[in-house]
Formats: sequence, C-alpha cells, structure tokens
Amino acid sequence: MLQPQRPIRPLPDVLISQIAAGEVIERPASALRELLDNAIDSGASALTVRLEQGGLGSVQVEDDGCGIPAEELPLALLRHATSKIADLDELHHAAHLGFRGEALAAMAAVAEIEIISRRAGADGARIHASAGQVAAVQPTAAQQGTRVTLRQLFFNLPARRKFLKSPQTEYAWCADVFKRTAIAHPQIALRLWHDGQLKLQFERDPSPHGLDRLAAVLGEAFSAHALPVSAQIGPLAVRGLICKPTAARARADVQHIIVNNRWVRDRTVAHGVRAAYADVLHGALQPQYALLLDLPSELVDVNVHPAKSEVRFRDSSAVHQAVRHAVEQVLARAGGEASSSHPS
Ligand code: ADP
Ligand code: MG
Repeated sequence: MLQPQRPIRPLPDVLISQIAAGEVIERPASALRELLDNAIDSGASALTVRLEQGGLGSVQVEDDGCGIPAEELPLALLRHATSKIADLDELHHAAHLGFRGEALAAMAAVAEIEIISRRAGADGARIHASAGQVAAVQPTAAQQGTRVTLRQLFFNLPARRKFLKSPQTEYAWCADVFKRTAIAHPQIALRLWHDGQLKLQFERDPSPHGLDRLAAVLGEAFSAHALPVSAQIGPLAVRGLICKPTAARARADVQHIIVNNRWVRDRTVAHGVRAAYADVLHGALQPQYALLLDLPSELVDVNVHPAKSEVRFRDSSAVHQAVRHAVEQVLARAGGEASSSHPS
C-alpha cells in the first residue's frame, strides 16, 4: 500500500547528488569507463589501470596527460563543471569523450576518491573526497599527469552495493571496458593490473590503420579467421576486421562498433553489417566483427546518451548503405576466392 501523499518538498542536496550519481556510475566498470575517457581527453600517450577485487576494492587510472592545476582540483569534483566545453556550439563539435562534468562529482558522492595531479612546470597536488565530503587540496610529489583512485564504491549506499556482483564478474566487465578502449585508441599504450598481476598490455600501434591493435585485442582465435575492411565512402571511412561467414557463431560475442574513437552500440551499423551477411549466413548465426567508422563531427551527434554509448547520425541511411557496401565487397571477394566452401 502506498503512503497517503505527503507535502511536496525540495530534495536535500546530498540526496540529489546521490540520485544523479547513480545514473552515471552503476558499477566499477562504468567508473572505469569514465576515468579512461578522462585520461584520453587529457592527451595521454600511456595509461595504467589498477583494479583490486574486480574494482569493488578500488579502481585506479593513471595517465601521462596534461594534468589538472592544483587550484582547479576542487572544481573537478563539482557537478556540471568541465574544462571541455564552454557553449552550445562547442557541444555540437565536441571532440572530447566527456563534456557533462558529472563523472568525478558522481564518484565523490558515492565512494571515496583521490586525485593526484601535476601539470608540466607546476607542483603536484592531491585532493580527496568521501561520500560528498571534500577535503582541502594538499601539495604532494607527483609525476606529470593524473592518477585517480576510487575506493569502496557505494560504501555509503548499502542498498546499491548489494547489487554489485562477485569480484570475478565485475572484473570481467572492467576488462571489457578496457579492451573497448584499447580498440578505440590504438595510439595509446595501455596496461591492466588486477590484484597486483599484470593481466593485459598493449603497446602503441604504429600502423596508420590501427588494425594491428584490433587484432591484438581480439586475439589469435578471432584474427585468424578475420577479413580486413578498409573503404572510404563519401565522407565515411570504414576500417576493421570481419569474420568469414564460416566463422560466424550463435553468440554475438565479438561485435564492436567504434565511431570517431568512441565504442558505441548502434543499430544502424549493426543492421548494415547483418544485411551484408544476409546471403551468406544461415539461421541464427551472428557475424563477428569490429568496425571503426570515422566521419566529420558535424555528421554525427554524440550528445544523445548520458553514458555516451550511443550516437545519432545526421544521415543514418547513408551510413547504413556505406557499411553494408563495404562489408559486402569484402565478403564477395573472399567468397570468390573460396567459392567451393559453404557455411555449415
Ligand atoms: P567531464 O569529463 O565531462 O568534463 P569529469 O567529471 O569527468 O567531467 O571531469 C571534470 C574535469 O576534470 C574535466 O573537465 C577535466 O578538466 C578534469 N579532469 C578529469 N580527469 C582528468 C585527467 N585524467 N587529466 C586531466 N584533467 C582531468
Ligand atoms: Mg569525464
């Protein structure tokens, strides 16, 4: 039974920020994604991730990027404060992964967070916050760049903490986020440590097409059956690896779509790929693929989803056709070379 209605009252600020935080940070993997985005936006050329207990204990990202000036550290933890956009026009041309100024504030509201940062030519500084309480900035020795450590996610919201899974499951999600970042940013060297062990390591990919990194992340089992895609169709560049029809599987385990260096879910592209495989794939089999799309920023809106995992194309049917065409061509060429083999 619902309670009889009570008078309308404004929510306390603490509750407002906890509710908002819950929409930005759902689990260690979503915190990791935000921290990786920030590291990439800072211009990092190398970054290191350290997780404890699948991220339930801590999530740490260290980068060698531009750093945060000591006097701006409190602002970094403030809601809706960002250095990335200043007006609506910049929003529409956002080249950064972040722009909402919400991630670090959310983490400060629902966990313990420490930021240590140093700009080139300046002294290092540290700020710490826990469950919304921000402590004063202190000087500290630091490398150039930024190291953010998140501890005990949702320690102050036990009902939310209970919904987190086992360290193994949370680790698997974090590792997925790490791999997606590695695919989308081949020019950055990345390392992933878990409970003191080095789990994954990718050196910078010097190849201009970024397909060496793709093959390294997806692994030998995938790459051995993969066909390279590389096409320029109007303003759209499509690169990547797709599986031979004979290597399709019942599960959609390798389906990566990266648009302008963002890993996204996108029906237009996914459908374009499926359409290209329509004649060569039987029944419920799923194509496996990783496609990197690049197009001018005015042709794609990235500001449609709070978690930035969806984009909207200005002309989605053109994108659909281009993807379909690029994939069809590669499949047709491969089919011509192996015309006697049929998918079983
Ligand atoms: P947003 O990324 O949307 O701006 P965040 O809450 O993630 O919001 O970060 C707030 C601000 O803190 C950023 O705009 C940026 O100026 C600064 N910042 C956060 N992480 C880093 C980092 N790793 N390196 C440099 N600056 C950072
Ligand atoms: Mg951010």
